[in-house]
Amino acid sequence: MPDAIVIDGKAVAARVRERVREEVAGFTAETGVVPGLATVIVGDDPASRIYVRRKGEACREAGMASFHHELGADTPAGELEAMLEGLNADPAVHGVLLQLPLPAPLDGDAMTALIDPAKDVDGLTPVSAGLLARGTPRLVPCTPGGIMELLREVGTDLAGAHAVVVGRSNLVGRPLAALLLAANATVTHCHSRTRDLAAECRRADVLVAAVGVPQLVGADMVGEGVTVIDVGMNRTEAGLVGDVDFDAVRPRARAITPVPGGVGPMTIAMLLGNTLRAARGLAARR
Ligand code: NAP
Repeated sequence: MPDAIVIDGKAVAARVRERVREEVAGFTAETGVVPGLATVIVGDDPASRIYVRRKGEACREAGMASFHHELGADTPAGELEAMLEGLNADPAVHGVLLQLPLPAPLDGDAMTALIDPAKDVDGLTPVSAGLLARGTPRLVPCTPGGIMELLREVGTDLAGAHAVVVGRSNLVGRPLAALLLAANATVTHCHSRTRDLAAECRRADVLVAAVGVPQLVGADMVGEGVTVIDVGMNRTEAGLVGDVDFDAVRPRARAITPVPGGVGPMTIAMLLGNTLRAARGLAARR
């Protein structure tokens, strides 16, 4: 078995971001419209603040406008609703991102559902999810979109391939399974109730772990020549580790993502792509 390709998510993300930057310049020159992303954060979760700051910086680097709104943890639901409605109506805003999780008692799903699907750059509204589930995606969630980009990057032939997705969250596993199906893979979807997870995983040509359990996938759970995408970001005493035991699985794999430096960097890159797509869609309506 030749050495596995270690998929360099940082490099792929940098290429996507550069492509978006060039396309934004062309779009703005043609239409006079500067794509704008509004981020909304409620409460003071430090990790959320870091993510949101990075998203704003990435926007500006790509030639887009970034609008940031911070609300206190005790914000009443009505105030957040009014803010989202205002952003839906604002012609300078093409993408609205509500950073999750929201502090209790605010309901993240209910609030997300208020975002205009045309501006749903996180792809998490019921309309976006429904369009994806029926095979006609519009704005696709960023992490699964990034995973598809990584699979393309390493020349994965998905048509007819057996893809196994472990994890069924609305953020990652569920939309990813729909994207793989749309790419003509034969998809097995595993979760915490799956009877023999190792046996299911061993049958995979493409294995995606989006679980949140450090190093759940070991060498005994993969077949020779598998392409492995590790979505997990688990903070442990040993630092940030994925859902896959990278060192053990790598010798059996055709290609594998590291943690960090694999899927992680793709998410913001795809968010920028979605913001440009949303701006194009809204401009075409006018
Ligand atoms: P989540 O909402 O907690 O979902 C986890 C999924 O894994 C659930 O569907 C759960 O099954 C399943 N699961 C849990 N334990 C399992 C087990 N022992 N065997 C099989 N399935 C199991 O998590 P998430 O939001 O999808 O995130 C998953 C991981 O990806 C986390 O580490 C997160 O930090 C990371 N993440 C990374 C990025 C990135 O940009 N790289 C983005 C998002 C998330 P049930 O449905 O049956 O409970």
